[in-house]
Amino acid sequence: MIVMRLDIDAYELVERINDRSISTEDFTARILERIDRYDGRINAYITVNHDALDHARSIDKRISEYDGKDRSMLLLGVPIAIKDNISTEGLRTTCASNILKDYVPVYDATVVSRLKRHGAIIIGKTNMDEFGMGSTTEFSAFGVTRNPWDVDRVAGGSSGGSAASLAALESVLALGSDTGGSVRCPASFCSVVALKPTYGLLSRYGLISYANSLECIGLMSRSVKDLALLLSVTAGHDTMDDTTLAVGSKDYHSKLNSVEEFRGMKVAVIKDIVDNSDPVVSREFNSALYTLQHLGFTVDYVDLKYLRYALPAYYTIAMAEASSNLARYDGVRYGHTIQPDGMLWNGFYSMVRSEFGDEVKRRIMLGTYILSSGYYGRYYMKAQMARRLIMDELLSIFKDYAIIATPTMPVPPFKIGERVDDPLKLYTIDLCTVLANLAGIPAISIPIAIHDGSMPIGLQMMSKHLNEELLLRVAYAFESTKYVRRCIDA
Ligand code: GLN
Repeated sequence: MIVMRLDIDAYELVERINDRSISTEDFTARILERIDRYDGRINAYITVNHDALDHARSIDKRISEYDGKDRSMLLLGVPIAIKDNISTEGLRTTCASNILKDYVPVYDATVVSRLKRHGAIIIGKTNMDEFGMGSTTEFSAFGVTRNPWDVDRVAGGSSGGSAASLAALESVLALGSDTGGSVRCPASFCSVVALKPTYGLLSRYGLISYANSLECIGLMSRSVKDLALLLSVTAGHDTMDDTTLAVGSKDYHSKLNSVEEFRGMKVAVIKDIVDNSDPVVSREFNSALYTLQHLGFTVDYVDLKYLRYALPAYYTIAMAEASSNLARYDGVRYGHTIQPDGMLWNGFYSMVRSEFGDEVKRRIMLGTYILSSGYYGRYYMKAQMARRLIMDELLSIFKDYAIIATPTMPVPPFKIGERVDDPLKLYTIDLCTVLANLAGIPAISIPIAIHDGSMPIGLQMMSKHLNEELLLRVAYAFESTKYVRRCIDA
């Protein structure tokens, strides 16, 4: 047996498990121990899966039967953390909300069944902003998730628990969801990598809805190769989700090449975004552009005429869809309920729904207003029109440019509590990330620096629909040229 490093990549872990130099049971036990010892400080997990060890043992048994010769399972024995809005059969799934605090799904989300089919071990369910509404993981009924690099700072959100679990070595891979940046933001704040795929490339079956037309299941890991591996396992058409695209699964991971040349390809940088970012972020971003140039790219600055409509359009659409999706939690059909004896309907309904947190209530009320008769055209339709203009403008940039680059977040991770009281101030930090959701295009976030040793900064790269392969190739070459740490000390 070799010494087990908890920061091992999934890719290598699968090799070691197959050649039996690491036992799945031992590795899983180490991760569970780490969570036990460390997660009290971070709060990355809402629920830990206590069946993980049994699963690990069954994998070791399988390997001894096949003698490690069957290598068809791409994630054999890899512990994965799943955001708590993705359904896992028999494992509590709360959306970090009191309204679902006891909900145990009776089925797996499609992506979860695909992970299981490839031998991944669900290690637990991670903390998030309630129903995915937030950018810091401060709006959770289960407490704040802390940033492993500096526990006084936010981990980003809404998939903060997933990102923090990776950076704190409490998982090897993670799933999140991304409606307006929720895997990229925490990845950037915690110095891990994340991919928001093209809308429809991954099935949303089993993802608890927040804003359907914008959201995707997103992938997170500590290395680009692992991200590609995760995409190979999860992507592709699903008969259970009509919004998935008619594309099959594909090998994204074995063709990555660290010394690739991108000569002749161009990167567009949205000037207004860089000008309006925190100086620390702009500085690191500019130095990342040098790395892209070093890889062969030509870098140009471009204007995005409709940029100022991006946040209003995003929040208008997201709140409208949220108010309609969350209407189902009425205490009768879904979720938390109370004893109705002697109560009138209005009282019952209000009491049940008072379980939602303040941010969720705010969005339900605003969304209901946006959709109400007389205002629908003025707000919702207008937002959809702005969305179309932004999407067309981005797609026209892709006629000349392979990639659009921005900082992932315009600010470094800030202190817990610093922005909670001002929702608008919090919404503005999503400026760079919402673009990809409005347009349905893929976007990746990779670490580019750790400011002052404890404030990670990320680079976001977007490309046209279904161009994940290019994003992964560039990110891989970037990471091989300029590596930034992905986790705190083991
Ligand atoms: N911060 C954004 C919001 O609150 C994005 C969240 C997400 O992607 N789930 O809507």
